[in-house]
Amino acid sequence: MPVDAQAAIDLLKELRALTADEHGAQRLAWSPTWLKARAWFQSKLSELPIEHHLDAAGNSWTTLEGESQKALILGSHLDSVPNGGWLDGCLGVIAAYAVLRRIAEEYSGKPPVTVRLVDWADEEGARFGRSLFGSSAFAGTHTIEQDRARTDASGATLEAALAACGVSIDAIGNAGVERKNAAAYLELHIEQGPVLESMGLPLAAVLGTKGVERHAITFLGQEAHSGSTPMAARHDALAAAAKLALEIRPIAMRHPHAVCTVGSVKTFPGIVTAVVGRCEATLDQRDLDADVLATMYREAQEKSRQFAEEEGCTVEWSRIWNIAPEPFHPELITQCEEAIVETAGRSHRMPSGPLHDAAEVSRAGIPTVMMFVQSLHGISHNKIEDTSEDHLRLAIAAFDKLASKTIEWMRAL
Ligand SMILES: [Zn+2]
Repeated sequence: MPVDAQAAIDLLKELRALTADEHGAQRLAWSPTWLKARAWFQSKLSELPIEHHLDAAGNSWTTLEGESQKALILGSHLDSVPNGGWLDGCLGVIAAYAVLRRIAEEYSGKPPVTVRLVDWADEEGARFGRSLFGSSAFAGTHTIEQDRARTDASGATLEAALAACGVSIDAIGNAGVERKNAAAYLELHIEQGPVLESMGLPLAAVLGTKGVERHAITFLGQEAHSGSTPMAARHDALAAAAKLALEIRPIAMRHPHAVCTVGSVKTFPGIVTAVVGRCEATLDQRDLDADVLATMYREAQEKSRQFAEEEGCTVEWSRIWNIAPEPFHPELITQCEEAIVETAGRSHRMPSGPLHDAAEVSRAGIPTVMMFVQSLHGISHNKIEDTSEDHLRLAIAAFDKLASKTIEWMRAL
């Protein structure tokens, strides 16, 4: 029985019409538009033989009970960034719905394993700066104490926004009960980057999410008059930072998937008539391999000290944030690749640079894999975000195949 990919695409368009304005999607988590999107989605599920509830962190769970309690979980997120696209997150939720519906029909409402659909709460963290909110509560990696005091641009607290949606911040860890019987997690998502388009491929099996090392780096030199200070006598903090900004390219390019970015540079005093005495830069380094990440971090530190010395400066590092790489399940990656090849002829394996809810699920020890579909022009988090309908059809069909393969894999466990 084939999955109805066209019906899923029609639903995505319906959701866009319901929750986007001329600037793009407005399904900001904990907002009235987000609640409207969720209510709309539930109305589509009403004629299926399912149980539905929200967990303690506001994640929305829809369960089709099977012969076995072992659960296959399919999901993504309906929330969007402000002025977001029509596919980020909701493609995965709607595709999961299409697959759930196909399975319910094929097995007359009683599949061999339990199938659950999850719409994670506040994946984007766009309003309070806390990404992966619901999935981290599910995984037990939530950080209530740091998150309690978070506020949005208007000064409203995360705690109050949650309460308005019936979620108590002190209880979100109870979402962990949903991990019971979870045997596998699958998520379809747009790539949000240019790799698949540049290769002319519709789909990829995702190897995992990259780890991140994010640091503030401050070079300290000596402020001096730009007219009176000879070139050889300068302690130019910007010169040292500039050398590092170029050096991170070879540091990253020694590894096939690694990326390093100096995203911000501030100079002090920052005036046209003074040599820079202090330069504050940021560095973001990512790779799927923890050893590669550690090597790149060490190399950047060593080079920063070398460049500081060459320029008569000193350098200080402080960590802004870091997270370990999260490799997905090898057998599910292989199945994902097979499903793609059977559907679209050719596949590709790639890590994800952005974080996803799937990383939290995998961190909780649940076998996990993601499938990526090509993003046109590599653009996301923007109203021009798009994927061709041909590729959306292939993606939903391949995701459905992956779900069938995973059910067979679970039955053999
Ligand atoms: Zn997303």
